[in-house]
Amino acid sequence: MPLLEDGRYALPSGNPCAGCDHCCRYITINIPTPRTKLDFDNIRWYILHKNVCVFLDWEGDWMVQFDTTCEWLVDGRCNHYRFRPEICRDYDPADCERYSCTAAERILLRTEQDLDRYLAEREARNAVRRARAKKRAASARNRKKK
Ligand code: SF4
Ligand code: SF4
Repeated sequence: MPLLEDGRYALPSGNPCAGCDHCCRYITINIPTPRTKLDFDNIRWYILHKNVCVFLDWEGDWMVQFDTTCEWLVDGRCNHYRFRPEICRDYDPADCERYSCTAAERILLRTEQDLDRYLAEREARNAVRRARAKKRAASARNRKKK
């Protein structure tokens, strides 16, 4: 498939969804950006459930995903296509992960271990930021004294 300038693959001619029904096999719901200990504990609770994950997309939105197949999906096809919900109509295969050469998620948390790793990395980044801010404040104080 030819690669486009924006890093996506060009859609093939014909039906770009041929042989695929992936987007009928999950739902995602936007959640507020987690900031507090309780927010992350809620994420832990989500992902302790089977077939549930949490991710941060490339637009900066945090989402909870439930891997569960739509009841209308039969033999790889929507058996009520004319009546499908708006969200299905609006989904553009050109934006679909099948035609992207990067991962669909910026951060993907599937397990408690993923979350622990993410929190440890986040804490390390925050510690570096705090140390830099402290250093800047100290040098600003020193400049004032001179
Ligand atoms: S939009 Fe993407 S995921 Fe959905 S059926 Fe088409 S190619 Fe597959
Ligand atoms: S309603 Fe149809 S198009 Fe929408 S998710 Fe279900 S099977 Fe797929």
